[in-house]
Amino acid sequence: MSAGGDGGDEQAVPAILFDGRSARRHEIAIGRDAGDLLIVHETGAIERIALAALERQGSGPWGDRLVRPDQPGWRLDIPGGLPTALAAALPAPHRYGRWIDRMGLGRAAVAFAAISAALVGVVLTAPQWLGPLVPLPVERRIGEALVGDLASATCHTPAGDAALAKLMASVDLPGQAPVRAQVLKVGMINAAALPGNRVVLFSGLFDEMKDPDAVAGVVAHELGHARKRHVMQALLRELGLSVVLAGTSGAVPVQLAKVTGLRYSREAEGEADAFARDRLSAAAISPAATGAFFAKAAKEEPAGPWMVMLASHPASADRAKAFGGAVDRSRRYRPALSPAEWQALSRMCDEDKRVRPLLDF
Ligand SMILES: [Zn+2]
Repeated sequence: MSAGGDGGDEQAVPAILFDGRSARRHEIAIGRDAGDLLIVHETGAIERIALAALERQGSGPWGDRLVRPDQPGWRLDIPGGLPTALAAALPAPHRYGRWIDRMGLGRAAVAFAAISAALVGVVLTAPQWLGPLVPLPVERRIGEALVGDLASATCHTPAGDAALAKLMASVDLPGQAPVRAQVLKVGMINAAALPGNRVVLFSGLFDEMKDPDAVAGVVAHELGHARKRHVMQALLRELGLSVVLAGTSGAVPVQLAKVTGLRYSREAEGEADAFARDRLSAAAISPAATGAFFAKAAKEEPAGPWMVMLASHPASADRAKAFGGAVDRSRRYRPALSPAEWQALSRMCDEDKRVRPLLDF
């Protein structure tokens, strides 16, 4: 496209459009016609937007970025950079942080997805406070974009699903939006919280854990990360906002391994462990088995199969002591699952003939 008219002297350049209505990226071309930006859509349709309605929002790995203050979520990335004459015709570049001043922090956080790029500078220095402010639906979308739904690797049997649901319900906080739990066919000892209220258990965990009470403790710990909103925090700190958001557009594939290997701060781990002990106590499940599990890990680490899980967690000996010490000898505990339920849960991935193991680790 060659845009005519006065001042329309530039060739069309390729750009990526996010229209703010869906997470989908549109590969389009842009040009200029007098005071308007022309957008040539994939369908061939041409859209005109007054240059005065656009704001330049700095540049980064995505190239130069234009946004529309009147349309949250709308953004245009020009990987090859803005053509010089078009850049000169645009309103002055936008300074990072100005929106936050204008909107107040609370509203800025709610508009997180929309004004993401404006927040980059702030977020990279402050994931601790920003992570928990990311609205859950946004976090859920980010999670789905980063790791997908993992359906083909998720083990299912009717009895196994029921046992997992019972375990989750017994240790989770009552009256909250549900956390989705999945058992994945992965031959490693690990469990992790994923963005958007999800918890995954690797089937390798069941080869090592012989007691449903210990699985309840590990699940409760991951639930703690989810309920305390630690996941976005760690994701932002470890991967950076640009990667996290690029993930939502499908531009940068982030492997499940990266997300399940997230490191939390020592403080967050302590909170998740405290949450786990509280929830086990509320469910009348003894913390003894969880303590014994960590004691065994402490003896064997950092050898072989433990590596993955322990690399991202605090010293097992301390955790063994904290869980073991939380046992109340005067209390009557109940098993987290019946023997039949435990059998169904721990053998679920062997019995599900349809599931495909995850190998991309
Ligand atoms: Zn943890």
